[in-house]
This record gives sequence, C-alpha cells and structure tokens, in this order.
Amino acid sequence: MSLDHHLDDATLLQYACGNLDEAFTVVVATHVAMCDTCRHAVRQAEELGGGVLEDVGTAELEVGSFEHLMLRIADQPAEIAPAATVPHVSGDVPAPLVRHLGPDLDAVRWRSIAPGVRKHVIKQNSASKSSLYMLHIAPGMAVPEHGHGGSELTLILSGSYTDVFGTFRRGDIADLDEHVEHQPIVDGDLPCICLVATEAPTRFKGFFSRLLQPLTGI
Ligand SMILES: [Zn+2]
Repeated sequence: MSLDHHLDDATLLQYACGNLDEAFTVVVATHVAMCDTCRHAVRQAEELGGGVLEDVGTAELEVGSFEHLMLRIADQPAEIAPAATVPHVSGDVPAPLVRHLGPDLDAVRWRSIAPGVRKHVIKQNSASKSSLYMLHIAPGMAVPEHGHGGSELTLILSGSYTDVFGTFRRGDIADLDEHVEHQPIVDGDLPCICLVATEAPTRFKGFFSRLLQPLTGI
C-alpha cells in the first residue's frame, strides 16, 4: 500500500529494538503491516542490528569499539530484501490487530463519549501506562484542538481526516510528540475509525474542552 504519512525514524528504531511498550507496539506493528516503506525500514534496522551483534560476538570491547560499531553499521549495504514472513493485511482489520480486536471492524463494541465520538478501549496484557483505544468519529466532526501530554500514535483504519499536516487515509499514521497541537477534522461522508496509542492523557485546550475531558477520557 502506498501511503503519505509514516512513522518517524526514532519510533521505527525503538520498535526494531523492542523498546516500545505494548500499546505503541500494536499500533506500529499494524502500520508496518500496511506500509511497504516502513516494513522495509524495520527489516533493515533489525538485520543491521542483528548482523552487527553477530559479528561482534563475545569479543572483548575495546576503547573506541562503539565508534567502530557505528562505522560498521554505516558500511552495511542499503538494500536488504524484505523477509518472506511479512504480515498480511486481512479484510478490514490488519493482521497484527486481529487478536486484539477480532477480524471485523463492524463488530467492534463502541461506547459513545461525546456527540459524534465513540470509543473502544483495547485491553492490554502487560501493565502499561500507555492507553490503547479506537475512536469512531462522525463525518464533519472536529476533534477539539489539543496538545499532547506525551507521545501519541494515531493510525487510520477507515475514512479520513485532515489537519495541518495534511490528509490522513487508511494506513496513514500520525506520529506526534508532546509539543504538537493539531485539530483533525473528519473528511467526506464516512466516519473516521482510528487506532490510537497515547503515553499520557490528552490535554484539550479551552474551557469547554476541559469540561468535556473528564467525560470523554480522550
Ligand atoms: Zn509507513
């Protein structure tokens, strides 16, 4: 699938190194399953890291060995064939998400949290401070303008929205840090369904939004 909005390099590296918590891992894995570009980048990061570690083996580390390691990473060929075990996108729900959500987007049980906004919290197996949930936002709805208390990943599964960064369609991901403020508006006639991982509760700006936040929990 050819997409417009991707994971940033830092997130891709953290994912390849296994450093993300469960909520962020699920969202990244789902985007990676839908995105040739990011899947290739992850394979490269994994194979470079693994290859270098194998080469180094148990040899004693010497002064300057870190610099050597980085030079050897830089020396690796850029083109690495993607592995055969690429996860597939099946139906409406991409493969990495099926075990958390089931195979059918239409079967998701939504809870109304505000006019035009519905939410479904996805249970996580690990104790994590991050939240993992889906949002179902009606056409024409604007999510209140907000900044983030921490990192946030939003992956579009159906419909689309537009904000200052452009239009986000199925498979596109918004990889935002805590300094970003934006106001997504759902495009067209279809609701926008997205998968979200957040590090900390979102802070809405403005009096009405602050009133709304305890009710919506987003
Ligand atoms: Zn991508």
